[in-house]
Amino acid sequence: MPCLFCDIGAGKIPAKVVHQDDAVMAFRDINPQAPTHVLVIPKRHITSLLDLTEGDDALVGRLVRTGRDLARQEGLADRGFRVLFNAGDDAGYSVYHVHLHLVGGRKLGWPPG
Ligand code: AMP
Ligand code: ZN
Repeated sequence: MPCLFCDIGAGKIPAKVVHQDDAVMAFRDINPQAPTHVLVIPKRHITSLLDLTEGDDALVGRLVRTGRDLARQEGLADRGFRVLFNAGDDAGYSVYHVHLHLVGGRKLGWPPG
């Protein structure tokens, strides 16, 4: 099955990459919802949060810590930011390769819309 984020992770489709290492890649969202909107993906395909297993725990830690590091890098640590995973239709999940959103740089409403 073709997968957009597998192709971005493999460098086959261009993206504004802000971090990459052996396991994860981070790039700017093409339709940003805030001044900073970065997606952090595992390079390995995982369809959604619902498919994670215990064996993925270290990888999930890498996603979260990378999002946190990028928040610092973007100057958001003091003012605040949000990291989140969407899953399923009610959350508007639309690209079926698990990804962490890092959003910040403006006041973020709560509860989310
Ligand atoms: P989600 O609703 O959690 O599935 O989020 C998918 C996100 O991927 C959306 O915020 C899209 O704007 C973003 N997106 C879709 N295609 C691309 C792309 N080619 N490059 C960067 N971000 C993308
Ligand atoms: Zn994929």
